Amino acid sequence: MKLCDMHTHSDNSFDAKSTVDELCQAALGNGLYAIAITDHCEAEYINMGEDCEFGSFDRLIPQSVRDINSAKEKYKDRLLVLRGLELGEPIHDPAQTKHALEYADFDFILASVHNLRGYEDFYYLDYKTVDVNELLRRYFDELIETSNFEHFDSLSHLTYPLRYIVEREGYYPDLTPFQEQIDEIFKTLIKNKKALEINVSGLFKPIGRTLPDIELVRRFRELGGEYVTVGTDAHSADMVGKGIEQGIEVARAAGFTHYTIFREHKPELLVFDNYSW
Ligand SMILES: [Zn+2]
Ligand SMILES: [Zn+2]
Repeated sequence: MKLCDMHTHSDNSFDAKSTVDELCQAALGNGLYAIAITDHCEAEYINMGEDCEFGSFDRLIPQSVRDINSAKEKYKDRLLVLRGLELGEPIHDPAQTKHALEYADFDFILASVHNLRGYEDFYYLDYKTVDVNELLRRYFDELIETSNFEHFDSLSHLTYPLRYIVEREGYYPDLTPFQEQIDEIFKTLIKNKKALEINVSGLFKPIGRTLPDIELVRRFRELGGEYVTVGTDAHSADMVGKGIEQGIEVARAAGFTHYTIFREHKPELLVFDNYSW
C-alpha cells in the first residue's frame, strides 16, 4: 500500500520548525510514496503583512512554494512532493483568499476553520467560560459555509475544537445535537466532489482519536462520500507519516475501498486491495 501524508507544515509556517527538505527526508525514511507540504495561510490576516503574529503570508507562502519546487526536483523519481496549502478561514475574507490562491499552481488545498468570526483560535479559548454547545453550533455553521466554498480539495480536521475541549475539560462532547449540521457539511462536500480529511494528529494527543473519528467518517461514507485524504498535520519532521497507517485503517473500517491524493487538484485513488503492513 502506498503511504501518503497529505498534511504537513514546514518552517514556513509560524508554528513549525523543520525545513521542507527535512520533511521530505523523513518521508523517504518512513517509506512514504507522497507528501503534501501544506503551510498555513490564514486569509483574514494576509493584509496585516509582517504585523501579524503569523508573519507575512506574502513572504512565507512564496518561500514555501520555492522550497517545495526545489524538493520536487531533488526527490523526483523517489518521492512525490505536492504543492499544498492549508487555507484557514477562507470564508472570512474572500478577496484575500483569492489573493492567496494566486501564489502558485497548487496541487492540493486544505480548507480549515481554526477560529470563528470575531474569535481567537480554539486553542486560546477558555472552555470554562464559553457555552460549549453554542460554540460548536457556530463552528459547524461556519463549516457548512466553508464546505460551500469553491476553491479547495479537502476539508481539514473536522472536530478541531474537540481536541482542546478534551485536553482541558476532560470530556468528549456529545455531537448528537449537531448531526444535522454535520450531515449538511458532508452532503455539500459530496455534491461538490470534495474530500474529507482524516487528520491523525489526535491519535497522539489526549483526544486519542482521529479528527474526525471513525463514526463520522463512516457517516460520510454512508451518505455517499467518495474521497478521503489522510494527513498527520506534522509540525516537525519526526511526526511525518506517523499514524498514516491507522488513518488508512479508519477509512477502510468506515467502508472505503480507497483513499485519495490530489495532484493538480485532481483526485487519484489509492485502492486498498492487496495491501499489507
Ligand atoms: Zn489546521
Ligand atoms: Zn495544519
